[in-house]
Amino acid sequence: MSSELIRLENVKMYFESRVGLFKTIPVKAVDGVDVRILRGEALALVGESGCGKTTLGRLSLRLLKPTSGRIIFDGVDITDKDEKELKWFRRRAQAVFQDPYSSINPFMTVREIIEEPLILHRIGNNVERLEMIAKALTDVKLTPIEEFMGKYPHMLSGGQRQRVGIARALILKPEYIVADEPVSMIDASSRAEILYLLKELQEKYKISFLYITHDIATAKHFSDKIAVMYLGKIVELAEARELVRNPLHPYTKGLIEAVPEPDPSNRLRERKVILGEPPSPVNPPSGCRFHPRCPYRFEPCDKNEPELKEAKTNHYVACYLYHR
Ligand code: SF4
Repeated sequence: MSSELIRLENVKMYFESRVGLFKTIPVKAVDGVDVRILRGEALALVGESGCGKTTLGRLSLRLLKPTSGRIIFDGVDITDKDEKELKWFRRRAQAVFQDPYSSINPFMTVREIIEEPLILHRIGNNVERLEMIAKALTDVKLTPIEEFMGKYPHMLSGGQRQRVGIARALILKPEYIVADEPVSMIDASSRAEILYLLKELQEKYKISFLYITHDIATAKHFSDKIAVMYLGKIVELAEARELVRNPLHPYTKGLIEAVPEPDPSNRLRERKVILGEPPSPVNPPSGCRFHPRCPYRFEPCDKNEPELKEAKTNHYVACYLYHR
C-alpha cells in the first residue's frame, strides 16, 4: 500500500474582508479541512467557484499560510516554515495553473521558461539543462523540440502554452503537483488531450496530484479519489468511481445531475441544476451550510453542522441523512 505524501489537518484560512471604511469581517474561505494524498495518488477537489478549492490548493503548496491547522509534507510539518526553510519543498511540489498565458513570462522563449526553475535551484550545467528541457518537451509532446524551443508564448496555441506550463512544472521532477482547473481556459478541442497527457505523466512518474475542478465528469476520469467541497468544507470523500456511481450527499447528487449526458438519440439530455446560488462565505448559513438549497433538509439540518463521517467503507459524508 502507498504511503502518505501530504496531509492537511483541520486547516482553516480566514481572510479579512473590508466592509465600509473602518470595519473588516472574516471570510471563511477554508473552514476546517482534513485531506491526505498518498504517493502516486490523484485526488480531485470538486465544487462550484468560490467554494475554497483554489485556496485549499494554494495552502497545500504553502503559497498561503493557514490561519490554523497543520500541513505535513513527507512527514515534515511545513505549516510555519519560511521561504528559506521551504526551498527543498519548492523543488518537490509544483503547480499547473488555470491560465497558462498569465503564469508564464511572455518575453521568455519556451526554452527559457522551462529552464528557469533549474537555474533558480542551481541544477545542472548548460548541456545537462538542455538535455532535461528536451526530455520535458518530449514528455509533453511538443515536438520536434527544436521547433518549439525558440518560440515565444504568443506564437503558441492555448493548448501548447499549457503544455509548456506542464513541462515547466515537470522539469524539477516533483512528487506533488496541484493542477488548478488546468483545461478551463483552453479551447474545447484540446481539453481532453491535455487531461490525458496529465494522467499519463502522473502515472508514468508516480506523481501525487491535487486536481482542482468544477467538473465532476472529468474528475472521475482523472482521479483515484474525489473530495467534494462546499463553502469551505469537504462534504463528501470517496474513491472516484464509487462517489460518482453512488453519491450520498445531496450536493454531490446535484453536481452529477448537472452533467449533460448524451441520450440514445445522441442529443444532450437537459441538465438539472442545483437550486439557488451558493451562499457567501462571509456569513455561511447555520447548521449544514447546504441546507438553504437542499431538497432533503429536515429538522436538525439548520441547527448543528454535520461532521464528515464514514457512511460506507471508505466513503465519507457530512449529512444527517446518514448519521446524527
Ligand atoms: Fe441536506 Fe440536511 Fe444533509 Fe445538509 S444535512 S445535506 S440539509 S439533508
